[in-house]
Amino acid sequence: MTEAVQFTPTPSGPDLVDLVRRYRMTWRTQPELAMHDGQLMPIGFTVQIIARYAHPAHPPLPDCPECAPVRRALRLVADAVVPKGEHVAWYNVQVLEAVQYDGARDPALSATITVLHKGRENRPPDDLEIACVTEIRENLQELGVVESD
Ligand SMILES: [Zn+2]
Repeated sequence: MTEAVQFTPTPSGPDLVDLVRRYRMTWRTQPELAMHDGQLMPIGFTVQIIARYAHPAHPPLPDCPECAPVRRALRLVADAVVPKGEHVAWYNVQVLEAVQYDGARDPALSATITVLHKGRENRPPDDLEIACVTEIRENLQELGVVESD
């Protein structure tokens, strides 16, 4: 139960690499915090995958035809990098509509993978959570997703 499940490249691997390149995907990780005894405490991690892409001069909208394929690509990449099989951590994969857009810069869409303890207990990350995040990171690097600040 505690052994790491190895990532096996899927037949869609090369396509994912292509999507990563096309949408200039980067990733970053942050601690996930929760209130415990009146204090904010780390309980897990979030891994955010960010995609950037050229966009017409109108603001990105949830149903925008230019943004839809980017959202799909993020979902594919996020689903592919999450460790497969029976795991000791709990995952949630969410593609956020939140677009950073100031009109000058290319917009960014992001997918957020949340890694918490199975059972969702609020306790500090342990080796198993860290191993899961490490595996996600390795899978991202394998697909060519670049680490960002
Ligand atoms: Zn759009």
